[in-house]
Amino acid sequence: MSQPDRRRAIPRTDDLLADPRLSAAAGAIGAPRVRQVVRAAQQLARDGLIEPGEVADHAVRELPNRANTLRPVLNATGVVLHTNLGRAALSAAAVDALTAASGYVDVEYDVRTGRRAARGRGALQALRAALPEAGDAMIVNNGAAALVLATTALAADAEVLLSRGEMVEIGAGFRLPDLIAATGARIREVGTTNRTNLADYSDALDTRTGCILKVYPSNFAVTGFTAAVAVGELARLGVPLIVDVGSGQLRPDPLLPDEPDIATALHDGATLVTASGDKLLGGPQAGLVLGDAATIERLRHHPLARALRVDKLTLAAFEATLTGPATPTATYLHADPDVLARRAALLAERVGGLVVTSAGAVGGGGAPGVELPGWAVALPEAYADALRLGEPCVVARVERGRTVVDLRCIPPDEDVSLAEAIQAAARTLDG
Ligand SMILES: *Cc1c(COP(=O)(O)O)cnc(C)c1O
Repeated sequence: MSQPDRRRAIPRTDDLLADPRLSAAAGAIGAPRVRQVVRAAQQLARDGLIEPGEVADHAVRELPNRANTLRPVLNATGVVLHTNLGRAALSAAAVDALTAASGYVDVEYDVRTGRRAARGRGALQALRAALPEAGDAMIVNNGAAALVLATTALAADAEVLLSRGEMVEIGAGFRLPDLIAATGARIREVGTTNRTNLADYSDALDTRTGCILKVYPSNFAVTGFTAAVAVGELARLGVPLIVDVGSGQLRPDPLLPDEPDIATALHDGATLVTASGDKLLGGPQAGLVLGDAATIERLRHHPLARALRVDKLTLAAFEATLTGPATPTATYLHADPDVLARRAALLAERVGGLVVTSAGAVGGGGAPGVELPGWAVALPEAYADALRLGEPCVVARVERGRTVVDLRCIPPDEDVSLAEAIQAAARTLDG
């Protein structure tokens, strides 16, 4: 076909959109997105990369499944809380709860009386039941919001005592001292980078002190000649104490002996404990504030509370995370290495590659230095790109010139689609 003929033969946009497969897709994911896919297919035909007669079929193949661009990923990195992959994977119970809450829902309404009711009361009840040590609890948008609210309420226009060993950057560009400063509180640094003693705090205490803040530096560990002051000792200094435990671990876990937990911090006398909902707690993005009931009542009435409040979907997923079965986070964290080894052997049998040991990690800025013993299938390095670009999208680890497919964070019922994804990647690499 000559170039002008080819161009004339390319179906027009309106004709393509009338194709029943494409018009059905427009009903499901929206006309603009379908039009985009159609235009891209027409362009391929104009460029001579596909035949004019293939435009409709090509567009149908390229249709996205959903009206949004977030792509589900099989996490083959072995990192349980991968921040770039959305931290905690929700449990089936949490997914069900948030789907059910997606329409109209009694989030702030009592169906028995027909009157307004306390917002998110079910989630708060579940949180109080999970941590009866706490006088009261509050759920906000994320860990950073929890910390902002707690500091604002206890130290606006006052000083926050913070150890120099805890002046940390938590994630890309998020520096804790900057966040505190943004609340109007002034940070008073105490101690040194490696050592801070009780006297460093007590010497700095005066009438300007609003509170003491203790932050668990969750993404690094200082080793060697170090000292820090325990929560219990700080609590006895007679000023409000905020403890930011970060990961949201509810109680001690023998697997992570150095990871701080909310129950212990409350037991040791923290006025307020703050934490994230989507790290070790395994829920949706949320921030928790727990502790002294009178202080939390003040937080609840602070104007900022309204700006930091969570939506019905978060409340639904969070409650189900607490009351439902073990979260994927807990399951992956505690995965039995022998089971992972058997799954890796089965996968290697299906797709080739080498069964290798693989150290998993907690991730998400938690339990730095902890290596979780696990197993993986090692493939040639080129697989990593092909796996990411495939469907389903698989994100693996590239290590010493190999692609390492770690099974820790793959739901076992996805093992077959993982194998198929690897086989498809092999075909693209061969082709
Ligand atoms: C992760 C973390 C935060 C921030 O929590 P987000 O939920 O990400 O806002 C604050 N403090 C500590 C110690 C953390 O580990």
